[in-house]
Amino acid sequence: MDRISSPKKTKDIVQKYGFKFSKSLGQNFLIDQNILDNIVDGANISKDDYVIEVGPGIGSLTQNIAEKSKSVVAIEIDKTLIPILNDTLKDYSNVEVINEDVLKLDLHKLINEKFKGNRAKVIANLPYYVTTSIIMKFLEERVPVQSLTIMIQKEVADRMQAKPGTKDYGALSIAVQYYCNPKILLKVPPSVFIPQPKVESTVIKLDILERPKVYVESEDLFFALVKDAFGKRRKTLLNALSTGDLKLNKDLLKDVLLSSGIDENRRGETLTIEEYGLLANNLAKIL
Ligand code: SAM
Repeated sequence: MDRISSPKKTKDIVQKYGFKFSKSLGQNFLIDQNILDNIVDGANISKDDYVIEVGPGIGSLTQNIAEKSKSVVAIEIDKTLIPILNDTLKDYSNVEVINEDVLKLDLHKLINEKFKGNRAKVIANLPYYVTTSIIMKFLEERVPVQSLTIMIQKEVADRMQAKPGTKDYGALSIAVQYYCNPKILLKVPPSVFIPQPKVESTVIKLDILERPKVYVESEDLFFALVKDAFGKRRKTLLNALSTGDLKLNKDLLKDVLLSSGIDENRRGETLTIEEYGLLANNLAKIL
């Protein structure tokens, strides 16, 4: 079948429909078949898999997913793309396009209705203006998916898989690593998109863990603690946590840090996710 992603075909489609790229919707379409093959191979899908694609654009990635999976639901916010997708994907009976904002969708309901409750795999070249919100929606709402194989901005991918003590390590690293095992698959230059984005991109695979990485009594307290610790990352833990949103009492905090075996002079960026878990659980006991 003709590749939608070939630069000529993409240009023809854009011209035929008089399509205008929207910068504010993060519309950068892939025109490199090799990269598309890499994304789909990295997602490790078979004819038994149900796939959710966020932001199909004109269908370049969707076409490749459709050929390898059982069924694809593609969620596209831009209504001007719907007639285009109905045309470019007309030969693929296992694709359904939905004209919705993914951030407003009930994804549990969608999976129940479209995939009979089977856990799906997410594959997407995400719009960069809402990358983190879309990923965190899947994770925090515990949408039943096995993995997310996504193209995102390189800097964001680096932060997601960063380890303690590195400059990229922060609240996002902890949030993602609490729910998933992140793995960077490939780096992608701006030249494989039209129009070309200003930033470099990375394809990252987030394999969802069966259970969160650490057991915490209160997720709210755990994430509030992480937020405060990284909010003032140049300060010691004792200072950052006693002057953050949680406004923890300094003496009480000294005791809890001591009983958790964490030096009060360390900085938040050096703590592992397990240490944050321990600290949150010890704090939960006395708050
Ligand atoms: N998948 C196509 C490709 O790889 O060529 C297009 C990717 S483009 C980076 C991102 C797509 O997401 C655009 O088609 C855009 O309209 C769509 N989009 C942006 N915000 C969205 C949202 N909140 N919900 C669903 N789709 C969205």
